[in-house]
Amino acid sequence: MIQQSSIDALRRIEIPPQSLFIGGRWQPAETEEAVDCISPIDGRHLTTIARASRADVDRAVQSARLAFEAGRWSRMAPAGRKKVLLRIAEIIEARALELAVLGVRDNGTEIGMALRAEPGSAAATFRYYGEAIDKIYGEIAPTGPSVLGLVHREAVGVVGAIVPWNMPLMIGAWKLAPALAMGNSLVLKPAEAASLTLLKLAEICAEAGLPEGVLNVVTGSGSVVGEAIGMHMDVDVLAFTGSNGVGRRLLEYSARSNLKRVYLELGGKSPNVIFADAPDLAKAAAVAANGIFRNSGQVCVAGSRLLVQRGVHDEMVGRISAHATAMKVGDPLSLETDIGAVSSERQLESNLDYVKRAEGDGGRRVVGGERILQETGGYYMRPAVFDAITPDMTLAREEVFGPLLAVIPFEDEADAIRIANSTEYGLAAAVWTSDLSTAHRMVRAIQAGIVHVNTYGGSDLTVPLGGHKQSGNGHDKSLHALEKYTSLKTAWFQL
Ligand code: NAD
Repeated sequence: MIQQSSIDALRRIEIPPQSLFIGGRWQPAETEEAVDCISPIDGRHLTTIARASRADVDRAVQSARLAFEAGRWSRMAPAGRKKVLLRIAEIIEARALELAVLGVRDNGTEIGMALRAEPGSAAATFRYYGEAIDKIYGEIAPTGPSVLGLVHREAVGVVGAIVPWNMPLMIGAWKLAPALAMGNSLVLKPAEAASLTLLKLAEICAEAGLPEGVLNVVTGSGSVVGEAIGMHMDVDVLAFTGSNGVGRRLLEYSARSNLKRVYLELGGKSPNVIFADAPDLAKAAAVAANGIFRNSGQVCVAGSRLLVQRGVHDEMVGRISAHATAMKVGDPLSLETDIGAVSSERQLESNLDYVKRAEGDGGRRVVGGERILQETGGYYMRPAVFDAITPDMTLAREEVFGPLLAVIPFEDEADAIRIANSTEYGLAAAVWTSDLSTAHRMVRAIQAGIVHVNTYGGSDLTVPLGGHKQSGNGHDKSLHALEKYTSLKTAWFQL
């Protein structure tokens, strides 16, 4: 049981200015310029991270390449790599509270969610891929009798991983653990607004015995560091989670450089579809509220569109609005808080702008949508429910990445499918119904990487997470993720 006093002790710890982690040690960036880390909890200066240059990225890539070629990790016996990954998981678990509090001070996620979704998921991810390492086999092809075809699965080389500010430890681990499991080296770029926990993770990996140069962490701006990784001629794979705009750029970088493989996990505008025969409307409303409002809506799979069948529309709007009003918004480091801070002032302003646009388009704001707790200096807003949204409105089409729910009524199954599929995105979805046939038909018809039935947001490491349509092309989690970090090689023997 976590005590509030333990959290409060950790929140007061001074954080020194951060350096780059290259070649197994802390190194300053080429220039002394730094990026300020502002805590969304109170708008105060937390620390600085190094602002790396192109030359710093080049050093990191060289270090990763040298480590890969030297074979210290890439040719280590699978059982040896497994031991290190399992040790990383153990250290993350032992330092879970420290990591969670550090992350919350950086990006404002409520501590309850941060504990589960950050160190909790990261440790589970390292353990899952650690355990998989010595259970992955190559293949013997079913050839004719005079030949032998062997299919080897090889590490690709140097992986460039670029990750966002929401859930950085979890999403970082989703890239690092499978890439490391298969023997690759990495250059990791965290987002400016949430680099601190991933810098800590680099230290933890070294402590667990990951050889120097195998994992390098380079902080700074997307336009310099991210572009330098994307354009680098010696990076073999790009593994990205973030916005669609940056995802497009990465594809361009690849085309303009060495045609590196690019895997994109992008945004969403996920439909949560409530049929009138849903088994439990009270539960559906509670789960839907969590599915959009937790972490201030800054979740890629957030159920941001609530599609409700006409017969239960008014009841659902009432129920979900009651949840939105009851959720406690405030200090993300208090165990009593349901919704913490929006990650930055810029994100808060963008959310408030979407509130205005939704009203301007004719949406009806039922509850929430205003900035609160301004006296703290932090970035907080009340979760908002908008009714009378039509599929053509901005709030039904664009990813807000904030605590704004668009309620859209529908008539029947065909109408629900048409509306659910009416955006460019296809990340997640849910269907609530008591009819098994309706559920199966909806799962088939909705274009999304995951469709939940009579729940929202659940999954674990055994199943892949990835988008359809413009939500991306790669998969994090599950054994499928290993495919991104391996190349197949055929050996053909004439007997
Ligand atoms: P973002 O695209 O702005 O930034 C993501 C990363 O890309 C950051 O590290 C950033 O520094 C870097 N970057 C920015 N400009 C770059 C450039 N020109 N070249 C290379 N790199 C650059 O995204 P964000 O605001 O940090 O995160 C929010 C977005 O991430 C949302 O769209 C959300 O849906 C998405 N997301 C998706 C998933 C998923 O699994 N599909 C998970 C979490 C978040």
